[in-house]
Amino acid sequence: MKYAPTDGIPSLKKAIVQYTEKNYGKVIDPANVIVSDGAKHSLFNLLYALINPGDQVIILAPYWVSYPEMVRMMNGVPVIVTPANKSFYPTISEIEKAITSSTRAIIVNSPNNPSGAVFPDELVEKIVDLCEKKNIYLFMDDIYHKLIFDGRKIAPVYNFTKKDIESTNIVVINGLSKMYGMTGFRIGWIVGNRKLVQVIKNIQSQSTTCNSPVCQVAAEGALTGDQSCVDELVKTIQTNRDMVIKELQSIPGVKVAMPEGAFYCLPDFSALNKDSMVLAEFLLKKALVVTVPGKDFGAEGHLRISYAGGADEVADGMTRIKWALDPNSPREIQIGNRKVVRDWQ
Ligand code: PLP
Repeated sequence: MKYAPTDGIPSLKKAIVQYTEKNYGKVIDPANVIVSDGAKHSLFNLLYALINPGDQVIILAPYWVSYPEMVRMMNGVPVIVTPANKSFYPTISEIEKAITSSTRAIIVNSPNNPSGAVFPDELVEKIVDLCEKKNIYLFMDDIYHKLIFDGRKIAPVYNFTKKDIESTNIVVINGLSKMYGMTGFRIGWIVGNRKLVQVIKNIQSQSTTCNSPVCQVAAEGALTGDQSCVDELVKTIQTNRDMVIKELQSIPGVKVAMPEGAFYCLPDFSALNKDSMVLAEFLLKKALVVTVPGKDFGAEGHLRISYAGGADEVADGMTRIKWALDPNSPREIQIGNRKVVRDWQ
């Protein structure tokens, strides 16, 4: 196996062009696509290409942990917008108020990691309008865009602009990791204007050279093959979601919003413990369940729970969380071949 083209093998780029036309109703050219080492790398390159020291990037809380860190790595300034009503949906005026003359971009991730929220089409439309009016980029992190529950359909972001692909402010980021569970293949991509793609190509040329052609061929197979696995995945995680939410709703004091997509929920545990680090560590040590402290996502008092696993595994995790938190639980439970004894109140 030899080096491959820096921007991706032509057959994979063609598959991404077709994917974009089918899923976004947008006709683009292979010159509008660049393949990178996962969506995380795509985003990193995008920020590297566009963010100068001091530039501000608006990030909507709750947010994926890597966004602010990556912006800081560029010597940029993450500007966090937190909905005042404590929901997972900012208002357009909250976003607009955060814009300054240094704002370069807004990052939107819907369906969202960590909350599972899916932004209403009207909100996305208003964000597109705002970005065009203020001439700032809209980075659409669409890594979960196929994982939406209850049969809901969302409008592709390009529906909200009259601009063509060369002049639009929208840059779409996507990849294989979530819809096909192909996390280790490390394939992500960006759809943007040719000039941006060329700049990112220069960055990749001097950094990673190219993606593994083996993984790129696998990616092409995933994108062009039978897509029923994606529907199956959505069914499985929707069933898991229903079970997890029901269990969470039965814990006194816990507040949880119904996730509309992705495979996470972000319940508010602040009535039980305001410090999400302490609570996550408690659940890890006592119940052997991994949750992620909401603090890392800009949502202190919450815990992120992933329900991407098999139904039994997810149910087991919920049983253990409830056992650890309920003071009236039995003193002992069996976890695998371990007997765990309650030594706390
Ligand atoms: N964007 C979001 C919101 C994510 O949650 C993740 C992974 O967790 C990524 C991007 C990165 O995906 P990839 O595995 O393609 O780098």
